[in-house]
Amino acid sequence: MIEKMELLDVDKLIEEFESMTKDAGYVQRETLKKILEENGCAEYLQNLGLNGRTDPESFKACVPLVTHNDLQPYIQRIVDGSSSPILTGKPITTISLSSGTTQGKPKFVPFNDELMETTLQIYRTSYAFRTREFPIENGKALQLIYSSKQSKTKGGLIAGTATTNVFRNSQFKNTMKAMQSQCCSPDEVIFGPDFHQSLYCHLLCGLIFREEIQFISSTFSHSIVHAFRTFEQVWEELCADIREGVLTSRITFPSVRSAMAKLLKPNPELADLIHKKCLGLNNWYGLIPELFPNVKYIYGIMTGSMEPYLKKMRHYARDLPLISADYGSSEGWIGANVNPNVPPELATYVVLPDIGYFEFIPLKENVEEAKPVGLTEVKVGEEYEVIITSFAGLYRYRLGDVVKVTGFHNLSPELKFICRRNLMLTINIDKNTEKDLQLAVEAASKLNAEEKLEVLDFSSHVDLSTNPGHYVIFWEISGEVREEVLEECCNCLDRSFVDAGYVSSRKINAIGPLELRVVQRGTFQKILNHYVGLGAALSQFKTPRCVGSTNNEVLQILCNNVVKSYFSTAF
Ligand code: AMP
Repeated sequence: MIEKMELLDVDKLIEEFESMTKDAGYVQRETLKKILEENGCAEYLQNLGLNGRTDPESFKACVPLVTHNDLQPYIQRIVDGSSSPILTGKPITTISLSSGTTQGKPKFVPFNDELMETTLQIYRTSYAFRTREFPIENGKALQLIYSSKQSKTKGGLIAGTATTNVFRNSQFKNTMKAMQSQCCSPDEVIFGPDFHQSLYCHLLCGLIFREEIQFISSTFSHSIVHAFRTFEQVWEELCADIREGVLTSRITFPSVRSAMAKLLKPNPELADLIHKKCLGLNNWYGLIPELFPNVKYIYGIMTGSMEPYLKKMRHYARDLPLISADYGSSEGWIGANVNPNVPPELATYVVLPDIGYFEFIPLKENVEEAKPVGLTEVKVGEEYEVIITSFAGLYRYRLGDVVKVTGFHNLSPELKFICRRNLMLTINIDKNTEKDLQLAVEAASKLNAEEKLEVLDFSSHVDLSTNPGHYVIFWEISGEVREEVLEECCNCLDRSFVDAGYVSSRKINAIGPLELRVVQRGTFQKILNHYVGLGAALSQFKTPRCVGSTNNEVLQILCNNVVKSYFSTAF
């Protein structure tokens, strides 16, 4: 029997969002006031001499721009169990570990009820807009979500990735129910101690409930591609489990086994059907709609470092819509995707003016001196670094993300994610971002596509051990590629970095020939395992696209798995 439940009022949610964004400037001032009133007694703010003032002008005059490093000593005291108000008025009881893909190690950031509430608010907002365009029925969702291990810090605080803190919160499930988005897998699978086993069980649950599945989602879309690539390997085992009604012995955790046993009954018809469908596919094209006939769309963050997976997702999804999820971070949420019709390459995020106080550093001007501007003062077409002031103890915090303002939704800007600011290939006057790298890889991998091979994943590194230094691009490829093709790919990569600083440096050999290093199959899986071992969760995993020398362990994994290397002869 389907449970009767209160569904969200989509029209009301949209109306609220419209009226709030029409008043974005005022809402921002009020939000800052609320943040400062609630947290004015915190030591950090007390020391800055605000003396109870809550207006943006005083705030900007007294409070400096900071990075995570600046706040590290304060956060550490919280982690160590100090119960005095350090960053927030109310004590922080939970800590989030950000994915830390850029720096190589997870960072601690505060998590609290207010952050939970803004998370649900942004989920509800984008759900309302999505549902208006793509209505779903009362069914289930194949949510490829995973929890990291939750641990206790030395000071007794709960620590887990931000997504884990969200999934574990009792309000998460209720909101998912109200959004008709209940996960088809039991909690034991989501919170299972081993993500390989959880992934297998998610796929199995999806197949058991295949007719009911309304959409497929994950936090970052890497998890979706990762899941269906795994499906290609394990589909026969999944069919065998369904046929016999017995779970494969590779699932070893008793809690997961007993939860799955409640769902799994022998079903030879279903096993035959899936078997037949899989055999009928050509290179797995259209796998998702074949397996899940009632799926309406695929949902997850698809922009930024997730863009390279779009091609593979379209391959699996055939003509199903791909909708990018919202924009945020462990530190706080920023914007919602309210235009779900737009393809992910063009997705933008409208800032919710009441979930934090936002400032933007213009990147056009000389960076060090550029003064941040307010939410309603940004200009269309310009790029900015995002600064967050949150309800969870971060004040004028430089997030390190670069966004471009593409327009306004009422008075609130629409942001396109551009790149991480510090993810940059640079040797002297050259500057290539994550996006430039992605475009170069896309151009060069077309040469592989002619051979019916794909670049499964990629990363890069600036090698300064040679004189002159040079760019190294790491590729994991789905099969054997002819030498001549790889040589041409390497040249194409070198030519595709069109940044004037790079091209001129290459011409005079101030930067050496680009090097393409092909790594063994499974290398990027090893990188993923490495991060999960550090406490990251698959849900928040982002392949590091640019590995600095300080991220030594990941660099070692890449370098130890090189099977072939090529130097460009393009210049
Ligand atoms: P985490 O460190 O796991 O909290 O990840 C947060 C980071 O992921 C952000 O600072 C962005 O760099 C990236 N990110 C989050 N949402 C999006 C999005 N919608 N598009 C592109 N990148 C995103």
